Amino acid sequence: MSDGIATIQVRVHGAAGEVTGSCYEVTTHHARLLIDFGMFQGSAEQEARNANAPNLDFEKLSAVLVTHAHIDHCGRLGMLPALGYQGPVLTTEPTAELLPRVLTSSATLQQVRIQEKRAGTAPSSRVLAPAHLTTAIPIRNEPPPILFTHRHAERVSRSIRALPFMEWEPIADGVDARFLHASHVIGAASIELRVQRANGGQPAHVLFSGDIGPIENPLLAPHQWPERAPDLLIMESTNGSRRFRQVDQYEELCAIVRDATARNQRILAPVFALGRAQTMLQLFARASREGVLRGLPVYLDSAMACRASELYARHPHLLEARTRRECLRGSNPLHFAELHTLMSRRESESVDRVRTACVIMAGSGFCDAGPILRHVQLAIDQPSTRILFTGHQLEGLLGHGLLNGATRVEINGAELDVRATIDRLAGISGHADADDLLTWVGRMPGAVKRIALVHGAHESRLAFADALRAVGTDTVHLPIVGDTLTVE
Ligand SMILES: [Zn+2]
Repeated sequence: MSDGIATIQVRVHGAAGEVTGSCYEVTTHHARLLIDFGMFQGSAEQEARNANAPNLDFEKLSAVLVTHAHIDHCGRLGMLPALGYQGPVLTTEPTAELLPRVLTSSATLQQVRIQEKRAGTAPSSRVLAPAHLTTAIPIRNEPPPILFTHRHAERVSRSIRALPFMEWEPIADGVDARFLHASHVIGAASIELRVQRANGGQPAHVLFSGDIGPIENPLLAPHQWPERAPDLLIMESTNGSRRFRQVDQYEELCAIVRDATARNQRILAPVFALGRAQTMLQLFARASREGVLRGLPVYLDSAMACRASELYARHPHLLEARTRRECLRGSNPLHFAELHTLMSRRESESVDRVRTACVIMAGSGFCDAGPILRHVQLAIDQPSTRILFTGHQLEGLLGHGLLNGATRVEINGAELDVRATIDRLAGISGHADADDLLTWVGRMPGAVKRIALVHGAHESRLAFADALRAVGTDTVHLPIVGDTLTVE
C-alpha cells in the first residue's frame, strides 16, 4: 500500500444507525483487517441484505477478529471461504469454543428454513386483535438466502485461533491487537488495535467496543479498560436513549414464581441462548438456594443455551467475584436441583404432558420462532399459562404484540384467544444502559476525543451523542454504511 494514506482507516459495513450487521474493515499502511462479520437481523428485507457481501477484497485481509458469538457480530463468518479469505479468525477462548457450534447450527437453520418454506411449515405468528397492533406485522414471504454450507462452517471453524484477554499479539505487519473483557456475555470483548505510524511516532490506537455489558454485572467480571485513551473509539449505543428502572428483578421473579406455583400455572419464558438464558438461570439458581422454587421444575429447552451455560462454569476467572468463588468451590453457579435440560425435539415435546406448575425457557427470545413458539401455541389460550418477557421486544413481532395487549393471535395457522397472563421482568439486559455507557467511556484513562457511535437505532445514537457532547467529547461521528473514519 502506498504512503500518503492515513495511519488507520475504518470503513463501516454494517450496524450503522441500526442494531445488527456489525462489520468494520480496517486499513493501515501495511495491512487490512476485518472486525466482526455479523448478520443483519429482523425483517425479511434486513435478512436479504446478508447475501450481499461488503465490497472489499477478502483475499487481501491479513486477519479477521471477532468480538463475541452473537449472530449479529459473527453470523456471516461462514461466508469467508467462498469470498476467498483463507487466514485466521482471532477471538477470545470462550468465543472460540462457541463459534463452531454457532456456525454449524446457523448452516443447519438456513437449510431447515428453505425446507420449511417448500413444505409450507415455516413458523408464522401475528396479532389478530386489537386492530392497532395488527398493522406492523411483517409477513415473511421468502426464506432468507443460503449464505454458507456446513463444509464452509467447518473450514472457518478450523481457522479460529483463541487469544488471551489483555495480551498484545502481533496480528499483521505493524499491527498489534488485544481483547478487553466487555462484561456482555461469556467471552465477549472489546478489541484494541495498536498501529505503527509511518513516521515512527507514537503508535495510533483504535478501540472497537463490541457490545458493552452493564457496569454492575451480577454474573460476569467487570470490564477491562485500556491504559491510554484511544485516538478513535468505535462504540455501541444500543441503549443510548434508555435508562433502566432500578428494580429488584430477583424479588419480582420470586413473586411471579410463588403466584404461579399457588395457581398451578406454567411459565413460558422466551430467552436467547447466549446471555439472557444464563441471566435467568442465575436468578432461578438463587431462588432454588433460598427455598423459593421448592421443587418447581425449570426446563431449559435449548441445546445451545445448555452448552453456553457450561462454558460459564469452565471460565470462572471471567465471572463476577462471588459467582467465581462459588465456581472455584466446585459448584456450578448456573445449576440447581430443579433444572432440567431438554436437548432434542423429542425431549421438548415430553414437557407437553406436564400438568403441574413449571417453568419452560426456550428460544427465540423474540417469541416468533423456535421451540418457544410451539409451547406458546399449545398454551396461550389457557388461563393456566403465564408468558414471562425479560427483555426488549422487536416491534412487529409476536412478543412485542403480546406485551402491548394482544387479545387474539394466529400462530402457525391456528387462531387463538390470549387467555395467558403476560408478565414482564424489566431491567434485564446484556447491554449497558445510557448511564452505564457514559460510565464506561468516563473510565477510560484520559479523555476520548473522537467517538463514532454504531450499533444503535437512529434515535438511540442521537440521544447518546448529545450526552457525550454534554460531558465534553470533542467529536461524535454518526457514520452510515460505507463511511470511512480515519486516524492520521
Ligand atoms: Zn451481543
